[in-house]
Amino acid sequence: MRLSQGQLNLLETCPRKFQHTYLEQLASPTTPDQQERLILGSRFHLLMQQREMGLPIEPFIQEDDQLRQWFTAFVGAAPKILSLSEASPALRQSEHQRTLEFEGHLITVVYDLLILTEQQAQILDWKTYPKPQKSGRLAENWQTRLYPFVMAETSHYQPEQISITYWFFQSRDADQTEPQSLRFAYDSAQHRKIRHDLTRLLQQLTGWLDLYKTTGEPFPQIPQTPTCDDCGFALRCQRAVDSTGGAIDTTKFPDLADIKEIPL
Ligand code: SF4
Repeated sequence: MRLSQGQLNLLETCPRKFQHTYLEQLASPTTPDQQERLILGSRFHLLMQQREMGLPIEPFIQEDDQLRQWFTAFVGAAPKILSLSEASPALRQSEHQRTLEFEGHLITVVYDLLILTEQQAQILDWKTYPKPQKSGRLAENWQTRLYPFVMAETSHYQPEQISITYWFFQSRDADQTEPQSLRFAYDSAQHRKIRHDLTRLLQQLTGWLDLYKTTGEPFPQIPQTPTCDDCGFALRCQRAVDSTGGAIDTTKFPDLADIKEIPL
């Protein structure tokens, strides 16, 4: 099975949600606002790729104020972002993809920009939301763990020579136009820990997949938490609650007054 960092995050958050999303291809509903942010984010990534390839970008930024604002912020900080003061890199490539076979699964990573010099492998990632106030959750995200791990496993670079830096182009404050960054260094101790965590998670996945395919046993659910309240599969999981906090009986059509309003 080919796995991305997003799939590992979902698998760790809730195995049952992973089953619904990737094995049964059931889409979790998104609001129009979320959809718009996703489209804009992917257009910005495309724009950055076009720029790196030397292709025209004017048509993109002319028609969209938000894209133009993010791109202007990038251009202003480009020498810092791209480490242009350092010696010419051996490789600088956008949308650089690597695949690693691990525990019987194929793990794929796509680096927004990879800069390789003799001594360093820098992974850069573009974010179109503001820099988080605390870095803890991002440090634990599988993207931060997996991207350097795969680089160390598929290249001659030692873990200590690898880093991942997130650049945030959306500011919290209108006066602040310069993009913010968060850099995570990597080392051998982290590499060992990630290998251990990844092995455990993928062995669990293999076991759950075998049972699902051979006996139809569903993947485990997480204990009922607020995560379930906001989950698009709550009804399917019999975790949906009505306005009084009681469980909704899915065998009966719910009272209309108990159905939450969906913003359009
Ligand atoms: S409702 Fe809860 S258990 Fe079910 S898929 Fe969503 S998060 Fe997982």
